[in-house]
Amino acid sequence: MDLSDLYQEIILDHNKHPRNAHDMSDATHSAEGYNPLCGDEIKVYLKLEGDRVVDISFKGEGCAISKASASLMTERLKGKTLAELGKESAFVLDLLSAEEEPELDLGEVGDLAALSGVRQFPARIKCATLAWHAVDAALAGEDKISTE
Ligand code: ZN
Repeated sequence: MDLSDLYQEIILDHNKHPRNAHDMSDATHSAEGYNPLCGDEIKVYLKLEGDRVVDISFKGEGCAISKASASLMTERLKGKTLAELGKESAFVLDLLSAEEEPELDLGEVGDLAALSGVRQFPARIKCATLAWHAVDAALAGEDKISTE
């Protein structure tokens, strides 16, 4: 199995069995992300205590990539501080859209590496970044973002 097969498997698994896919009645922050190019609609919920993300979830409809990315994101960000969250988010946006593909430390990046496979499909990059942008919007106090 080569790396791209593994990446694809991770995406398919998170699409089929999304983690933290539910709404949150006691969220402190939430925002809806909309990607009109593909029709993805992902709402993200965060619960902050101090500067730590004690809970994070998402709900919505979208393509496999948008849902898998949201699912991977919730696993990655739960328990992180806002400073750590900012670093993760910047890393993923870089991973998906920087001109040069960043070098990956697979041990550190874990399943998030699967998102790098999306680079081969430029039309789908907005699917993969949607949930991450929605989290940034939620933390900025906005309740909606669109990728257009
Ligand atoms: Zn999509």
